[in-house]
Amino acid sequence: MYEAEIDNKIITPYARDEVFADEMRIVLRNCGLIDPENIKDYIARDGYKELGTVLTELEPMKIIEMIDESGLRGRGGAGFRTGLKWKFTNQAEGKEKYVIANADEGEPGTSKDRLIMEGDPHTLLESMAIAGYVIGANTGYIYIRGEYQLAVSRLETAIQQAENLGLLGDNIFDSGFDFEIKIREGAGAYVCGEETALIKSIEGERGEPQVKPPYPPNEGLWGQPTLVNNVETLANIPVIIKKGAEWFSNIGTETCPGTKVFTLSGDVENEGVIEVPMGTPLREIIEDFGGGIADDREFKMAQSGGTSGGCMPKTLLDTPMDYDSLAEIGMTLGSGALLIMDETHCIVDMVKCFMRFFKHESCGKCVPCREGNTRFYNILDKISQGEGALEDLDRLKDLADTMSKTALCGLGQTAPTPIYTTLRYFKDEYLNHIEDKV
Ligand code: SF4
Repeated sequence: MYEAEIDNKIITPYARDEVFADEMRIVLRNCGLIDPENIKDYIARDGYKELGTVLTELEPMKIIEMIDESGLRGRGGAGFRTGLKWKFTNQAEGKEKYVIANADEGEPGTSKDRLIMEGDPHTLLESMAIAGYVIGANTGYIYIRGEYQLAVSRLETAIQQAENLGLLGDNIFDSGFDFEIKIREGAGAYVCGEETALIKSIEGERGEPQVKPPYPPNEGLWGQPTLVNNVETLANIPVIIKKGAEWFSNIGTETCPGTKVFTLSGDVENEGVIEVPMGTPLREIIEDFGGGIADDREFKMAQSGGTSGGCMPKTLLDTPMDYDSLAEIGMTLGSGALLIMDETHCIVDMVKCFMRFFKHESCGKCVPCREGNTRFYNILDKISQGEGALEDLDRLKDLADTMSKTALCGLGQTAPTPIYTTLRYFKDEYLNHIEDKV
């Protein structure tokens, strides 16, 4: 059946987005080119071929080596080496093992995983099946943001179609390998994008982050070894297997190979999702893909990495956008959200808005985050109303230090980043709000 479908070479002629025609598309390679509800389109573009190669020709350790040599790093935000994660989960002992695709994508201003799942759902399924074979799992879960109903429906259709063709389910490619995929919808909690909270949510418990270690590769879903990978990370896998580790490692930067999918939003001419090589300078992304700042206004700030991302001023416009270059200057790549703001926005108001979000989304499990985000918001509110004092800036800094060192999970540890970076690069705006400006 599989070969027959390939021979048909049926591809629905969907037009590419002309605005972003200069992108380098690896994970978005099929988006816009295939009918996501027709498995024949995916198969005609060599879909499920790599799964067949893996199951019939390659040992799990060989694939782990390939992924590790490619240098692929997790695209959810942490940037951990994917090959190592796969190796740890492969080597862990357990009655059962699980693969989880983290499709929660609760980060405001991020839509990359949504685009992959809506435009090319079979890529995710194929990658999860490959991961399952490699680590020794027979079940995979897609933990998806509940608002993504179109993606849910397309994934359900895709799973059904793949099962009908024997590309998921029992004895795939007559290899003796069984793999089923289930979908679990999240209920809107931002913190459930954190892997241990996500696991608790799938288990039917309150989605709260857990103390680590143990880490999911050793003790994850129902206490069993579990591989949790972001959707974008997984979408790279079939291409790396097809084209090789060396090909992939030559794209992007030496320490951050491959591409990155950015969600560009805010005050640019063209908002949207783009895929470019890792290390592409921020200026190029804004000008070449974003079409520059809208309405002939001046650039003021780019927030990279989502609500907890660093706020980059004009002087950092030539920064290469990759994990390591951003970390060197105290910024983050995160999920690839890029919020661009022009000269008309007040930085203090924006940071207050970010803290309102964290105040709401803190799960409340640990004191520094539960109390700290509320305090951040209250202090910023006071400053923005013109009632702040210089000491409030010291209070913000002290609180940021405490939270980043003592909060239990990434939410509380990184919520202070906009505070740190705006105090460093936009302090004048805080001072402008304080009556006794120095
Ligand atoms: Fe919950 Fe915040 Fe503590 Fe994370 S840091 S566990 S979100 S209270």
